[in-house]
Amino acid sequence: MSFIYDKKNAQCMWCKRTQNPHPDYSHETIPSKIFISKKGRKIELCFSCYENETKAITKASDLEEILDKKFEILKVLNL
Ligand SMILES: [Zn+2]
Repeated sequence: MSFIYDKKNAQCMWCKRTQNPHPDYSHETIPSKIFISKKGRKIELCFSCYENETKAITKASDLEEILDKKFEILKVLNL
């Protein structure tokens, strides 16, 4: 799984962080990766949120569904 380091305007869509959480790299943006949900949404996640979402699943298609579900919940809550 390759994450992009120091990407311009990087922001995790779940935790909203934009800065690298590692103290040695705090001047850099957060390492992130864009995932495509089952409904075709582009969801940008940081590594720790990705780890959180994938620790309980066994196949990639499960993640695609989780991304849509969580995105829709966040939208309803307006977060
Ligand atoms: Zn995150």
